[in-house]
Amino acid sequence: MTFENFGLQDSVLDSLRHIGFKTPTRIQSETIPLIKEGHDVIGQSQTGSGKTGAFGIPIVERAVKGRNAQALILAPTRELAKQIASDISKFSKRKGLKVQTVYGGVSMGPQIRGLKRSEIIVATPGRMLDHIRRGNFYADNIEFFVLDEADTMIDMGFLNDIEDIADSIPKDRQTLLFSATMPRELVKITERLTDNAKKVATVLKVDENLLKQYYYEVQHSQKFSLLVSILEEEAPDSALIFCKTRRNTEKLKKNLRSNGIKAENFHGGLSQNQRERILDSFYKGKVRYLVATNVASRGIDVEHITHIYNYNIPATVPDYVNRIGRTARAGKSGIAISLVTENDRRNFKDIRRQYDYKIEKLVKEEFNRLPFKTDEKPRQSSRRRYPRKAKSSDNKNSSSAPRYKSNKKRKNQPKRTIRRDRNVTQNNTD
Ligand code: AMP
Repeated sequence: MTFENFGLQDSVLDSLRHIGFKTPTRIQSETIPLIKEGHDVIGQSQTGSGKTGAFGIPIVERAVKGRNAQALILAPTRELAKQIASDISKFSKRKGLKVQTVYGGVSMGPQIRGLKRSEIIVATPGRMLDHIRRGNFYADNIEFFVLDEADTMIDMGFLNDIEDIADSIPKDRQTLLFSATMPRELVKITERLTDNAKKVATVLKVDENLLKQYYYEVQHSQKFSLLVSILEEEAPDSALIFCKTRRNTEKLKKNLRSNGIKAENFHGGLSQNQRERILDSFYKGKVRYLVATNVASRGIDVEHITHIYNYNIPATVPDYVNRIGRTARAGKSGIAISLVTENDRRNFKDIRRQYDYKIEKLVKEEFNRLPFKTDEKPRQSSRRRYPRKAKSSDNKNSSSAPRYKSNKKRKNQPKRTIRRDRNVTQNNTD
């Protein structure tokens, strides 16, 4: 399934391509067609599932440039409102729609102007109601009314505000409600606000007693050694080791094998026969480790996978969720371990922030350092035995200055033997 399958406008597809959305998440696959058909939708799903796209993409698709306030999206906090507005601006970049955020604690003037010339409004309930009561908001064009994280809005005491806002916008709108949980109060208001709504539930049910999630912080150059060490220690019965690219899976497989760990690859570049053969060996337990790209996070349905390793950190929360969702299935337990290098830190922090469950940090100080072989040519030519001669422009103190100033002096130095295994590098462990 791709975004093309939804029959979206080229400009929307173009924007999605631009931000790297290739495959819709589950909530998106199920919700976008329903919204396009005009249904009200109640989506049970949480942050990290891709729900902003689930409602934001069809809203952007339908919106007409130049007509103000066609969609009103309510969110519980200013941070979430800003996040939603930023995502929707990205979906609509090529269409050139304007998105106005509305929240308290800042002056009203710019918001009043924005409300008059933006196609999409993302607001917290209190300030939105304020604008409505003061007559700052022209509601007749509203086609979509969205409640995001509705359960949190109820918890925060916004129920009455939401009802008042709903009463002041057109009745023949489409209402879309997203919530991680469905408390009784919310069910009641949902019945009042929606009309024949379709229900979509894609809540990731992580049972934290069954699925344990950990991460290690490790230097890039030691990542492979750490992986081997924890594989040896835990000796998983059946594990998926996720890499970013096909090439990475190939390299990692070879290195695992040269350390006596029998692994196979699984990625989109394999022929159907190869895939079937490998999966068959994996199902039968002949191969315990599959080194895979994200393809495997969708294509493999095996109940007995005990461990997931993120050798390369996934780019987004949905990717993380899809990967770890391969273990702890059917009441069994599982472990997910992410190896976070200095380059991944920021991205992984974002994932942890957006993800609802705990990922615990582990530390391992002692493990054997192992070489990681690549097929790449070494960067330095093996013919250059000594540093190049300094040019007059070279900084004398710089590390590129020659260590031996003259041939004469060089003769007096003990002969250096540079032994460099052509294909061994400690630094390219991807
Ligand atoms: P959300 O649940 O909407 O807050 O999305 C969580 C994260 O997943 C955000 O960083 C989104 O940009 C990202 N995301 C949502 N949908 C997709 C998709 N189809 N492909 C890739 N990333 C996505």
